Amino acid sequence: MSKNHEPSTGSLKSNGQAASLDPRVLIVGGGIGGLALALSLRQLDVSCTVFEAAPHVRELGVGINILPHGARALKSLGLLGELDDIAIRTRKLRYLNHLGQQVWTSECGLWGGHDMPQLSIHRGRLHGVLWRAAQARLPAGALRNGHRLQSFTQDADGVTARFTLADGIKVEERGDVLVGADGIHSVLRSLLHPEDGGIRWQGSQLWRGAVDWPVFESGNVMLIAADRMAKLTIYPIAEGRSAGTRLTNWVMNGKVASGAFPPPRREDWSRPGKLEEVLPFVTRLRLPFLDVEALIRTTPQFFEYPECDRDPLPWWTQGRVTLLGDAAHPMYPTGSNGATQTILDARCLAKLMSELAPEAALNAYEAERLPRTAEVVRTNRRGGPERVMDLVAERAPEGFTCLEDVITSAELTDIVGGYARLVGLADPQ
Ligand SMILES: Cc1cc2nc3c(=O)[nH]c(=O)nc-3n(C[C@H](O)[C@H](O)[C@H](O)COP(=O)(O)OP(=O)(O)OC[C@H]3O[C@@H](n4cnc5c(N)ncnc54)[C@H](O)[C@@H]3O)c2cc1C
Repeated sequence: MSKNHEPSTGSLKSNGQAASLDPRVLIVGGGIGGLALALSLRQLDVSCTVFEAAPHVRELGVGINILPHGARALKSLGLLGELDDIAIRTRKLRYLNHLGQQVWTSECGLWGGHDMPQLSIHRGRLHGVLWRAAQARLPAGALRNGHRLQSFTQDADGVTARFTLADGIKVEERGDVLVGADGIHSVLRSLLHPEDGGIRWQGSQLWRGAVDWPVFESGNVMLIAADRMAKLTIYPIAEGRSAGTRLTNWVMNGKVASGAFPPPRREDWSRPGKLEEVLPFVTRLRLPFLDVEALIRTTPQFFEYPECDRDPLPWWTQGRVTLLGDAAHPMYPTGSNGATQTILDARCLAKLMSELAPEAALNAYEAERLPRTAEVVRTNRRGGPERVMDLVAERAPEGFTCLEDVITSAELTDIVGGYARLVGLADPQ
């Protein structure tokens, strides 16, 4: 389907026509992006309804990061205090080689000179805060579980979305705009882009877990160690249940295949991981301060997820319909940007919806957000800021005596600093 494809039920209204007095936004997906959009629209007095496929809200996932510009958006929604209470303010990021030698370090959030903290948080708890805020702030009936989008049509006056309920009943909803915030397996994306090449995978599997673990360093540091063949990311996301511990998120990344194939199993955020599959990658790591095998063995349940994304799309918006968050630009987790870029999408779209006619708002939103997020997707594929760790591993596979002999500080700053500019961390506060 093309961006300007004629809709099945009539021609589209051209841009620039007067906004309807009270545009109603239909949001598909009540995840991080859909809820951030709903709360932002509500704040600006734009009506919306969220349709979430899951019949019940469950606090699912493990660790996720909100970078300072994402935190600023959540502060303007009045949620930063509540999130701060259940998250860890990340103070420092350290990149290490497989022996634990430091390749890069930088201060994060307030310590890094930003006006907002960087929050490391349990994804399910973040989702819970957003969901409860939406329940409290949206009018009755504006948050609907058990609605799975199946199809849509649009015409000159609006858009009709069709959902299947959990019991199989089909319902229709009419609105001015339809936003697909329905995640990496977005139905709306596949309706807009039936030719889309699907999930892209370069052969790396992620195993992700969270467990109460003794505080390391100052209790607020994110460590990433080794390289693309076997990499560990570890950071605390909450206070632990016993003294001297923190709920600590870990991600073990292992290269299980080379070349580009579909992932071996459908990507599912809640698929349990297997010890015998992850442990072989741990042997590559020799970190003097951390028993990685014990960390993984102690974790009661952990998950497997392929490191995957989709090719950037040429367009997101067709008339009154657009995409947001993972539906628009799923990305590798490198650089901790998935949730933050989604929240930035939501803020941008909500502001434009409050200022412009629906179609003009959607086009302006796409013009602002698509090029930048597409570049983040592409850069993450090449390793994002963590590419410096791959370079050091290639040039000094047995470790180094002097880092400068392996990689210059200019090269380090160029790669890591360039990434911070790309994702908007260097934008005016
Ligand atoms: C269960 C779950 C666990 C996750 N755990 C982690 C994690 O531990 N770490 C991490 O970094 N990221 C995790 N993510 C992904 C992370 O939330 C996103 O990458 C990011 O925050 C972007 O948010 P999003 O709103 O675009 O997508 P998501 O947060 O994935 O939300 C998409 C929502 O759309 C709903 N949906 C899907 N299809 C339909 C449909 N046809 N009709 C209606 N609703 C639909 C889904 O149920 C989901 O609630 C998880 C996502 C999910 C759904």
